Amino acid sequence: MSGAFEPIPAARPVIGEREIEAAVRVLRSGMVVQGPEVAAFEEEFSEVVGGRHCVAVNSGTSALYLCLLGLGVGPGDEVVVPSFSFAATANAVRLVGAEPVFADIEADSFCLDPAAVAAAVTARTVAILPVHLYGHPAAMDQIMPIAQRHGLAVVEDACQAHAAALHGRPVGTFGDAGCFSFYPTKNMHSLEGGMVATGDADLARRLRLLRNQGMEQRYANEIVGANVRLTDVAAAIGREQLRQLPQWTRQRRAHAKFFDATLTAVATPPVADGVSHVYHQYTVRVDGDRDAVAQELRERGVGTGVYYPTPIHRLRPFRDSPGVRGELPETERAARQVLSLPVFPSLTQAELERIAVAVNAVRVAA
Ligand SMILES: *Cc1c(COP(=O)(O)O)cnc(C)c1O
Repeated sequence: MSGAFEPIPAARPVIGEREIEAAVRVLRSGMVVQGPEVAAFEEEFSEVVGGRHCVAVNSGTSALYLCLLGLGVGPGDEVVVPSFSFAATANAVRLVGAEPVFADIEADSFCLDPAAVAAAVTARTVAILPVHLYGHPAAMDQIMPIAQRHGLAVVEDACQAHAAALHGRPVGTFGDAGCFSFYPTKNMHSLEGGMVATGDADLARRLRLLRNQGMEQRYANEIVGANVRLTDVAAAIGREQLRQLPQWTRQRRAHAKFFDATLTAVATPPVADGVSHVYHQYTVRVDGDRDAVAQELRERGVGTGVYYPTPIHRLRPFRDSPGVRGELPETERAARQVLSLPVFPSLTQAELERIAVAVNAVRVAA
């Protein structure tokens, strides 16, 4: 196949020379576990979240799980979550022994519908866990007042939304804590990795204990903890990626702008007022046979993704649970219709045009 016709993947994670050199530098130093690189990564990432305390861990899921543990969420408690998300969002709630209660999403943002959140609150509710899905911030300006009215904690799942903002305020800074993932396909990565951002110094200290066997000083264990530390090798890669994040975010936005102006056969993603979207995914709605459209695009050399074909409340571990209360019509509709197009930073103008031509030429789209 000639280069021009190589298939375009749905995502293209970057492991460039800078990342490789950073990893080799740390490996050669012989000091590979959590150390100075992790500390520097935390300090540098703090700039993305308005100077909040940052605690690095080994994944986004660990970040969510540790946060809920650190906030004292546990058995008997309910946490309001969207069902239209990656399973990690609800897994974290179950892992601490609490019950995820599923609320519906808004049609436009694909994020939690504040009215549905308010309706889901019971006497057992202790927290709300909004997800900034695809890089679009959830309606935090409406969700925070609900939390305040009921005295609930808020943990933001910002795993797809590094540096997204709402009315100029970065995601991860609205609630008690914000959780980020550095999985390879995310807007930036550290191979695997995660970060908690919080304005609460006590919570930050508890998280530091929880990630390291309950110790700050070696063998002076204060509480029961796990080992969810990030390595210095991963942190060095994360630091290199963080330096490139502003440029990559600009590129994702430019690609999205091109698609907004060019795509005619599908519904492009609306952006709410005051929203600074970071386009982890560029997700359109197909009002027809979505899977046939994906197949047709694949044949035309355009990779796509469906995030997520099955809402969490219909996955086996959750479907018969007490947190499934009534219908989630917008969640179901999104699961049937969504299709994410390639939007990764290194797409070329020729690739963007090929994607647009292919999408606009799709026959099965209604
Ligand atoms: C990726 C992701 C997670 C989990 O992050 P990992 O680093 O893969 O553990 C959690 N929530 C959402 C919405 C995600 O996209």
